[in-house]
Amino acid sequence: MTKKSEYDLIIVGAGPAGTSAALYADRLGLKSLLLDKSIFPRDKICGDALSGKSVRILRELNLLEKTRNLPGAHIKRITFGGPKYQQFDLHLKGDSQGRNDEGFSIRREIFDEMMFRSVQEKGVETLEGFTVKSLIQEGSQLVGVSGTLEGVTEEKSFYGKIILGADGAKSVVARKMKLYDMDMENTSVGIRCYYEGVKDLTDQIELHYVPELNPGYLWIFPSDGIRANIGVGLSKDHAKKKKINLVKVMEEILSKPPFAERFADAKPLEKPKGWNLPLGSVHRENHGNGFMLLGDSAGLVDPFTGEGIGNALVSGKIAVETAKVACDANDLTSKILSRYDQNLWDELGSELRVSTKLQNLAKSRFLLNFVMGRAANNEGVREIISGMLANEIPKDQLSNPLFYLKLLFY
Ligand SMILES: Cc1cc2nc3c(=O)[nH]c(=O)nc-3n(C[C@H](O)[C@H](O)[C@H](O)COP(=O)(O)OP(=O)(O)OC[C@H]3O[C@@H](n4cnc5c(N)ncnc54)[C@H](O)[C@@H]3O)c2cc1C
Repeated sequence: MTKKSEYDLIIVGAGPAGTSAALYADRLGLKSLLLDKSIFPRDKICGDALSGKSVRILRELNLLEKTRNLPGAHIKRITFGGPKYQQFDLHLKGDSQGRNDEGFSIRREIFDEMMFRSVQEKGVETLEGFTVKSLIQEGSQLVGVSGTLEGVTEEKSFYGKIILGADGAKSVVARKMKLYDMDMENTSVGIRCYYEGVKDLTDQIELHYVPELNPGYLWIFPSDGIRANIGVGLSKDHAKKKKINLVKVMEEILSKPPFAERFADAKPLEKPKGWNLPLGSVHRENHGNGFMLLGDSAGLVDPFTGEGIGNALVSGKIAVETAKVACDANDLTSKILSRYDQNLWDELGSELRVSTKLQNLAKSRFLLNFVMGRAANNEGVREIISGMLANEIPKDQLSNPLFYLKLLFY
């Protein structure tokens, strides 16, 4: 550890991962500095959906009531649509195991600002408009970051015992530590466009696994007021191999049945914007001497639904718990920080594996059609899918032909 360490933690990036880390660090009495290149409020290209896991962490951080009061949509069910446009709803059900019966769709410009201001309200030191450009190492140990403040050319450095890379899908911390891995197969690309005037939006978020995008999907989410968040997502591999222009394909899908009627009076409020989703279908390296990678920089996005906010929030919590142990033991080596990797994958691993299986299922149009068709007509099958998504029913069944036979008799 360098003598210059001013902070226990330097957190690079104030999205969900970084703000969650800053809030948990405050609880555990760690002194942190939260840096972001943007000035809040700022937009982030996203579907904006906050589901069960995000709600659980927000409740734990005493931010659920604040979140409920933000402008946005309150979500009670998820609509899944299949390649033959058959669809079914899963209603969010609360239970004593901590499953939630509500979700939200809140623009990231609003949600991320609430998180950032909540960090500031705790008295944690923050710096906006500061872009981290390089890392400071002493031997193999990461000890600080350097960068520039908006409008200033002179570089400034900050030193900390542990650096948390929470700087998103194009993470500079991951790149500089040689852990950045944008492999086409395990990265999706999504485009988002806010619309006004979309019909039939109530309390549902919708994921439609339409044939034009197979194995990707179209999402239709309500947002605040008359606004809706519309987008499409597909693995980079498929988009490139099939030479798919996502903007064009999205326009085509929305102009045809069954969506045309709902979009007849709808107007885009912006040009569609794209960004990468590093998927948790592979277990990437996420730590080393003096640092841990969180959220998108660790590649934790759910491969089936494209959700990454909940896992980013969870990674902030687990990284800080590990940092506390390391700081207390005065040991900042990769060995002790490997507990982060262990605990993170103990918590998220099985769920990410279910979603990877579901993503693989989506690649087979025949199987997807079959399961969606059965679910559309049968409450028992919907319960099974709901149980799998909630991790209560073993995912191994998805690779067993008998499972599909069983669905036939439900
Ligand atoms: C099109 C699309 C749709 C999505 N839809 C959903 C959805 O509906 N629900 C869901 O849960 N997830 C969704 N996701 C995934 C979700 O957006 C991410 O998983 C989530 O934002 C990850 O949070 P994070 O904190 O790790 O990173 P980010 O939210 O990306 O935050 C990273 C922060 O780091 C800052 N930063 C970056 N570089 C630097 C630097 N060099 N110096 C200082 N600061 C830096 C950035 O300004 C940013 O504030 C979607 C993603 C995409 C692309």
